[in-house]
Amino acid sequence: MPTLITSISGWGRYPLQSCELERPERYADLNSDAPSLIVRGQGRSYGDASLNENGRVLLTERVNRMLELDTEQGILRAEAGVTLAEILAVIVLQGWFLPVTPGTKFVSLGGCVAADVHGKNHHHEGSFCDHVLDLAMILADGTRSHCSATENAELFWATVGGMGLTGIIGEVTLKLIPIQTTRMKVRYHAATNLEQMFKLLQDPTLDDRYSVAWIDSLATGKNLGRGVAMFGHHATLAELGNSKPHSRQLKHDQPARKRTLPFDFPAFALNPLSIGAFNAWYYHREGGKQEPFLSGYDAYFYPLDAIGQWNRLYGKRGFVQYQCVIPEQGAYAGMATLLHELSASRRPSFLAVLKRFGAQGRGMLSFPTAGYTLALDLPIRDSGLFALLDRLDSIVLQHGGRVYLAKDARLSAESFRSMYPRYEEWLKIKSIIDPHNRFSSSLSRRLHIGLNSGRAA
Ligand SMILES: Cc1cc2nc3c(=O)[nH]c(=O)nc-3n(C[C@H](O)[C@H](O)[C@H](O)COP(=O)(O)OP(=O)(O)OC[C@H]3O[C@@H](n4cnc5c(N)ncnc54)[C@H](O)[C@@H]3O)c2cc1C
Repeated sequence: MPTLITSISGWGRYPLQSCELERPERYADLNSDAPSLIVRGQGRSYGDASLNENGRVLLTERVNRMLELDTEQGILRAEAGVTLAEILAVIVLQGWFLPVTPGTKFVSLGGCVAADVHGKNHHHEGSFCDHVLDLAMILADGTRSHCSATENAELFWATVGGMGLTGIIGEVTLKLIPIQTTRMKVRYHAATNLEQMFKLLQDPTLDDRYSVAWIDSLATGKNLGRGVAMFGHHATLAELGNSKPHSRQLKHDQPARKRTLPFDFPAFALNPLSIGAFNAWYYHREGGKQEPFLSGYDAYFYPLDAIGQWNRLYGKRGFVQYQCVIPEQGAYAGMATLLHELSASRRPSFLAVLKRFGAQGRGMLSFPTAGYTLALDLPIRDSGLFALLDRLDSIVLQHGGRVYLAKDARLSAESFRSMYPRYEEWLKIKSIIDPHNRFSSSLSRRLHIGLNSGRAA
């Protein structure tokens, strides 16, 4: 099959690496022939998870057929290259929704399984793979196999969150959730500091199916951790009340006029002053919304998707998204220390999101664990950023937490080992199904994940 050697990156545009791309046109063409390969879905992981420097990268964008939709049971079987956007375009009109969704719909099913992605409902409904009924896989020796929580379960739990290192995920069977309407019923609450924010996120009288909080990463002193907590659920027909009759139907959101960033922003455009001004405006505008309101599902789940190539906002050098989770017990102290370190560094994060997680999932390398997760977008202006991120890693480790591999571009192998205690268990499965370490990525070599770990593969 023809290949193309070119430089590619993840969504953070860092690092940029030369890879050999292969794009199978059909499911039957998916194969694990190359001596070193990694699969790439939509390249929406931020760092080097879908890169394989000087090695093969298998693109799944053409392997994107929806194969079966049981509209009675809400069960979908589709090829792994199908995006969540393509799925939503079909299922929403039939009264179904994704059981878990990340903050962009431009990701592939395979990417959602490999990263075991989480959404705003993790504290109630777990992560993506808690709703996966079956995976069809192509393993390193070319074998085609199925796995699930009950069949080949070890392979399944190694693949879930396994960042593409156990084999090619070819097809995914997913259980959907029913919806009565395509509107969301949403409530916002402002918190003047982190303590209040934790109280809001823990308050059972406010809790809802989905919850998430935006944090002003530049606020300091008594305002450290101020922000807006956002709660929501799929509106029922009764909750649409007196809305216009047409909004009672299952229908897609009016497409927002899509804007695309036409050029890379200059590095100086995002600075403490500009971000501080934006944050103050946003805090007062969104935090001032006292009453519950209805929102379209697109605007609620995917606000950033409305701006094409928004990653150019961070300039040519790109950015790092730092996402960590800290277990419940030390979460408040840990998050306060992280935010303090961040605001003292004067490296503002344009986007800072705090979210409560539910119980630890069963994926051996899955990221979520019961506690709180913080995600920060940080532009790469100089090497000082990496020194700051190393300090954040130490804080996370001190509190028993971990960093999310789907967002990572710079964690050390040593920190990875401390953060992912089930790695040795995972490695045992990997050594059986992929003894020659065929499935390997720039991320896995950087973190010494896989056989021959500690040496370049
Ligand atoms: C704006 C934005 C918001 C986000 N919000 C969230 C969020 O709320 N929660 C969350 O958990 N994540 C979030 N993410 C991260 C994103 O959901 C994950 O990185 C996801 O894995 C990306 O899917 P993809 O198809 O782009 O995969 P890629 O980036 O192409 O690949 C990601 C990993 O999946 C593997 N992979 C992909 N397809 C296959 C396959 N068919 N077989 C085997 N391995 C495969 C790759 O090898 C790689 O290791 C967000 C990303 C963006 C850009």
